[in-house]
Amino acid sequence: PQTVERIAAGEVVERPASVVKELVENSIDADASRVTVAVENGGIDGISVRDDGYGMERDELERAVEKHTTSKIRDIDDLESGVATLGFRGEALHAIGAVSRLTITTRPRTGGEATELTVEGGEVTAVRPAGHPPGTTVEIEDLFYNVPARRKYLKQPSTEFDHVNTVATSYGLANPDVAVALEHEGRETFATTGSGDLQEAVMAVYGREVAEAMRSVSGDGLPEGPLDSVGGLVSHPETNRASREYLSTFVNGRYVTASVVREAIVDAYDTQLAPDRYPFAVLFLSVDPATVDVNVHPRKLEVRFADEDAVKDQVEAAVEQALLEEGL
Ligand code: ADP
Ligand code: MG
Repeated sequence: PQTVERIAAGEVVERPASVVKELVENSIDADASRVTVAVENGGIDGISVRDDGYGMERDELERAVEKHTTSKIRDIDDLESGVATLGFRGEALHAIGAVSRLTITTRPRTGGEATELTVEGGEVTAVRPAGHPPGTTVEIEDLFYNVPARRKYLKQPSTEFDHVNTVATSYGLANPDVAVALEHEGRETFATTGSGDLQEAVMAVYGREVAEAMRSVSGDGLPEGPLDSVGGLVSHPETNRASREYLSTFVNGRYVTASVVREAIVDAYDTQLAPDRYPFAVLFLSVDPATVDVNVHPRKLEVRFADEDAVKDQVEAAVEQALLEEGL
C-alpha cells in the first residue's frame, strides 16, 4: 500500500496489545467459548489468537481484510453517537494487515471447508484451502516490519508483554463464561476456565490472595450522573498486598483506559486512609455512547467523558460503597 496508508494503519495499530485487543474482541463477537492468545517476544515478533467461534466462509474471509467493507457502523448517526470510540470501525484486520504479515485460517462452525488467507504489508498474497477445526486462528508476524518509525517506538519486549497481559486478563475477567488463555514464548501465563464465575476467573488470573481481597462493586444507589451502571471488582486496601496497581476498565463492554476512573479509585482509597496501597480493580461502566468524547483517537485505548467530574463522582461513590462490603 501507499506510504500514507501505512502511516494511517500505524496510527490505528499502536502496539502488540492493541492488536490483541482487536483480535480478542473479534473472537468474542464470534461467540467463541475458548480464546487462546500466544505471543512471541512480547508480541513484537509474533501474535496468534485462536478461537472456536463461528468462523468464516471463504468469501467472508476475503471481505474481512478489505478496507471498510465489513463495518458494523450502520450510518453516520452511529459515528456521531460515539460508537466509533469503542472499537466498531470495521477496519481492524485491514489495518493490521497493512503493517505486518497476517495469516487467517478459519472454518465455519456450520461445516464446510477451512480457508487460509495471507496478507503481507497490505497485499493479499494467497487464499487457499486449509485444515482447521471450526473457528478461527489469526497470526501476525513482524508487526511494523514495513513501518520502521513505528517499530522503533515499541518498548522492551517485557513492557509490550505487560500491555498484552493486561488486555488478555481484562477480557478474561470481563467474560467469565469464555475460557481465555495467554501464552508467552510457549509458556502459559494464565488460563480461565470459562465456567461463568467471576471470582473463579479472578482466581485463575491473579491467584487466591488477590481474589480474596476483592470486593464486589454493585453500583447500588449510584448517584445521578452520566453512568447508567458501575459493576465489577475492587481490592480492599487492607487486604490487598499487590506491589503495583492494576486497573481494567470496560466501557459498554469495550476495554479502555480512562484516567478519571483511576483518579476516582485512588480518591476512594484515600478516603479509606490507605493512600500507600495499590488499587486492583476491574470495572464495567455502562454509559450513553453520546457522552463519550469522540475527539480522542478511535483506536487508542484512552477515552474521555463529556462530563469527567460527574463520572468520577459516580465511580468514587461506587468504589467507596464496595469497600464497605463483605468479601466475595
Ligand atoms: P469489525 O470487527 O469492526 O467488523 P474487523 O476488521 O475487526 O472489523 O473484522 C472484520 C470482520 O471479520 C468482522 O466483522 C467479522 O465478520 C470477521 N471476523 C474477524 N475476526 C473473526 C473471528 N475471529 N471469527 C469470525 N469472524 C471474524
Ligand atoms: Mg473487530
